[in-house]
Parts: sequence; structure tokens; C-alpha cells
Amino acid sequence: MRVLLAGGAGYIGAHVAVALIESGHEVVLLDDLSNTSAVAAERVSVITGAPVPLVVGDASVDAVVEAAFDEHGPFDAIVHLAAYKAVGESLQKPLDYYANNLDTTFALLRTGIARGIRSFLFSSTGTVYSDPADLPFTEESTTSIDLSNAYSKSKRMNEVVLADVARVNPELDVTVLRYFNPVGAHESGLIGEDPSGIPNNLMPFVQRVAVGALEEIGIFGDDYDTPDGTGLRDYIHVVDLAVGHVKALEQGAPGYDVFNLGTGRPVSVRELIASFEKAVGRELPSRVLPRRPGDVAATYCDPAKAQRKLGWTAERTIDDASRDAWNWQSKNPQGFQTA
Ligand code: UDP
Repeated sequence: MRVLLAGGAGYIGAHVAVALIESGHEVVLLDDLSNTSAVAAERVSVITGAPVPLVVGDASVDAVVEAAFDEHGPFDAIVHLAAYKAVGESLQKPLDYYANNLDTTFALLRTGIARGIRSFLFSSTGTVYSDPADLPFTEESTTSIDLSNAYSKSKRMNEVVLADVARVNPELDVTVLRYFNPVGAHESGLIGEDPSGIPNNLMPFVQRVAVGALEEIGIFGDDYDTPDGTGLRDYIHVVDLAVGHVKALEQGAPGYDVFNLGTGRPVSVRELIASFEKAVGRELPSRVLPRRPGDVAATYCDPAKAQRKLGWTAERTIDDASRDAWNWQSKNPQGFQTA
């Protein structure tokens, strides 16, 4: 397949690009580089030995998407990962989040459908599940649009749009992938997570503490109703997640379908820190802070549907993720800027 990978230079995108190329597909990246670097695309090329064209542009602009098709098409599939993703920032800038995270979908769908794509893959989030009584979340669990932040709401809104678009384009394969918590890096250490500014997410924060760029880890609450009192998440190795995209594209059938991509194994904040300390070989400074507003005690999925229908299952452990994240961060202490 020839795949247009929107958001392809980002953390997830670069790993998806590698996985697609390694499975024999061709990719073209479309990315505005608002939260990553062109170095990511070069590194994908180094890892795979394949050419990895990068179109630098805003996927929410029709003319940009059309130009990508004109120059690099035709494409069999669009994988749409181009989004703003900072939960906290989305509370401050809801309009930016709704506009960007929906306009990208509109522009990619308009041009993609007009130009005859067969598959559209969308990156959504496990935060669309709204009822903790449903844990572990299956694809049938209750979802809501009335979520705690504009990022999650924009993802759920996209799902609603995509289901309707699929209904009137019955030949199109539309797949929504609900990610749990992607962590880790490619084992080469050439690509990994490189958030600008102070990381919001736990693993990249821990990585920065380990290289001395940040002083200590703040544990957001240790009084949750969980085994060690800290929050439980379903951390999935980004390479496993990337392989899930390849399987979804390859097994795709016409119509709308949704898959959880997670491990099904909840890991606490303290367990993640301990795993990372093992990878680094020393203790890392940490301190318990108040709970972060909007956080839930636990979220993790039942990944059985992806296993059943896609033949996909997460193979890597949290220790694999810690080892690979540390390899990436220690080789690239300033992220892609190190290059
Ligand atoms: N967390 C933490 N310190 C941090 C960042 C996150 O203790 O600096 C906790 C957070 O409360 C949650 C877990 O780590 O229990 C995962 O948080 P993250 O932001 O990575 O993912 P999300 O909350 O969006 O699932």
C-alpha cells in the first residue's frame, strides 16, 4: 500500500512509518512540525533504509492535502495522527483543539475520498470511555462526549464524524484505534518521544529527570483506591502500537470499526518509576504531590477484539519500554535537537 501518514513525523507517526515500511508498504509523511522535527523523518529513513518523503504542511488545509496527493499520490490509505494532544493545554485553548483536531479530519477525508483512498485510519484515545464501572474497557463500553477536557472531546467528536462518513461511503474502510498510554521508543534509539517544554505525561517526565534536565518526579496523588495508592494506566510500547496500525490497515474491511490498542495490564505510577529506575540503574528523585485535576484512578483496556479480528497483541513489557525509552533519551538528551 501507499500510505499518506498525517502527523507522520510525530512520536507515534515515526514509529508507524517504520512499522509500515518494514511490512513492505510505502509512506509519505505530512506534518507541520509544530511539535516535532524533520530529523524524525530522516531517522525513519536511516532505520528502514527506505526513502521517506516529508511534506511540511498543515493537514487541516485542503490545498495542502491536495498538493500532497498531486505530488506523491495516488494513495491507498490515509493514517491520520495529526492532532494537538496536550490534555492540560486543551483546557486553556479549546477552540484551537476543536478546530485543529477536527479540521484535519475534514480536509483529509474530503481529499482522500475524492482521490479514491480505500482506507482511513484514525488515532483516538481510551479516554473516550467514561464509566469506571466498565473496567477493563471493551469497545462496547460506554463512551461519552461529555469528557473532562477538549482534547478527549475532540477525539470522540471525530469518531462520531467518521462513523457517519463511513455510513455513506460503504466501500471505505474506516478504522478507529483507541490508544491507551503509548510509551517507549524504537530499539535503535534513533526515534522516541520528544515533547517540547516540560512533559505532561509521566514517562517522558521520568526520562527528563533521568538525564538531569528536570529535578524530580512529581507523583500526582498516592491516595487513590488502587493497590499502591497511585494511578493505574495501560502503558503500551509504541512499537507494539505501531504494529497495530499495520495490522488494522492490512486486515481492514469496508465499514466502520473500532479497536482498543493496549496491553490490558494496569501499571501504577510507582511501578513505572521502579521499572525506569531498573533500566537506568539508579534511583530517581521523586515526591508525592496533590492529585492532578481531571485524572482518573485507573484506566486500562480489554484488548481481546484486536487480538481476535486483527491478530494483534502487545508483546512488549513495561520493562522493555523503560529500557528503550532510556536508550533513546540517553543517546538524545535534547531529543531531536541533539542531532
Ligand atoms: N503522573 C504523575 N506525574 C507526572 C505525570 C503523570 O504522577 O508528572 C501520573 C498521572 O496522575 C497518571 C499517570 O501518571 O496517574 C499517567 O499520566 P499521563 O499524563 O502520562 O497519562 P494520562 O493521565 O493522560 O493517562
